[in-house]
Amino acid sequence: MRNFFPALLVGLLLPCMLGAQTTPRIFCGNELLSDLLADQYPDLAESIEATFDQAKQMQAGPRTTLTIPVVVHVVWNQPEENLSDELIEAQIQVLNEDFNRMNADTGNLRSMFEWVAGSADIQFELVATERIQTNTLFEIDLLSGNLIPEVKHTEDGGNDAWDTDSYMNIWVCHIQPITIGPIVLGQILGFAFPPNNLGNWPPDSGAPNPAEDGVVIDYRVFGPDNPYPLEIPGGTGNLVVKGRTPTHEVAHYLGLRHIWGDGGTFGPNDCDQSDGVDDTPFASSESAFDCDITKNTCTGIDDFYGLDMPDLVENYMDYASEDCMNMFTKGQVEIMRNVLTGPRSGLLETTAVLSPESERLTWTISPNPAADLITIRSAKPFDASAILRVHDGLGRPVHHQSLQDGGEMVNISVMDWPSGVYTLVLSEDSNSSTQKLIIHR
Ligand SMILES: [Zn+2]
Repeated sequence: MRNFFPALLVGLLLPCMLGAQTTPRIFCGNELLSDLLADQYPDLAESIEATFDQAKQMQAGPRTTLTIPVVVHVVWNQPEENLSDELIEAQIQVLNEDFNRMNADTGNLRSMFEWVAGSADIQFELVATERIQTNTLFEIDLLSGNLIPEVKHTEDGGNDAWDTDSYMNIWVCHIQPITIGPIVLGQILGFAFPPNNLGNWPPDSGAPNPAEDGVVIDYRVFGPDNPYPLEIPGGTGNLVVKGRTPTHEVAHYLGLRHIWGDGGTFGPNDCDQSDGVDDTPFASSESAFDCDITKNTCTGIDDFYGLDMPDLVENYMDYASEDCMNMFTKGQVEIMRNVLTGPRSGLLETTAVLSPESERLTWTISPNPAADLITIRSAKPFDASAILRVHDGLGRPVHHQSLQDGGEMVNISVMDWPSGVYTLVLSEDSNSSTQKLIIHR
């Protein structure tokens, strides 16, 4: 995975350059992160079969709702990139609707596919939003073998991840276009690393190191009704944005592939390329941010359905327009749940301390803003498990202490904390609550 970029990018972008001169292409960065040469990974087809089997077995099992704690890092330069809290909360709501088939547009799915549409029973809970202004330009370095890792490191002008085993980190930033000289080749909307060594991905597809695990989204495609348009190459208007690029990228994070199997990047783009899911019909190419329900790129091949089905353009893992996509399949849902209860199960342990809002801890910080000393008061006595954790505005832990069993108040010196915004997390066995503190001198 380390040195495939130059060849992959040439393979990926050359057809666009030849076919349409300089029309740039919009795409998901995971195309760059997966090299699916069958001859390079001879065991892949077998692994995909194993993934099918595993997913099928899971479908019979009992269901519980799985909750993912989310930390959003807004890494911005221009004020418009510093997206509002309201937009971020609305995006979390879109994730909760889309993953649970609670979205308002389920009725747009062609009836022939209704029986394979699935609800994942996965909930997303926003734990914290961190904001940092930066002067770093997040440009794709074609030679690095990675995609803008700077956004994930405070020392490089980004924002350090919260523990990636325990939290799903989403970085929102301005991803610069891919250029060669003055020519704009393309624009990545986002990307995400799957866990390593899943059956339906090539080996070592995961994050280069744990601190870089997570999801990256361009600020113009984050949130429903995003006010900052992104033009479709070729002059056909602006992208429709309904918060579904994050739905797509979070699904990569949970192990899903593109429905056309990512062929065509550097090798054949034929109907043998698979996404590792058998209830997504065969497809050999992606949609073009449109909604072409007549599209059938693998004619004459009987799908899982026993029929030659058209391409499933309503699926979140295609590149259809966001007002066309509206579903995951049951097979996709089972892979995501397998990943969440398997390689990403650390996320579920974190959410064991999250609870409904009505049961949350009630507490205050005073004064706020503060300069030298703060007092934390709780509406009820702390229990023996009570812990206070503090992160600075860059996500770095700065303070951690157990609170006295039975106490209702604690004083903390903040003399050594530089001016800035801090996140305080108060947790007990079954509860957790987050508040912001401003230190100002
Ligand atoms: Zn993608």
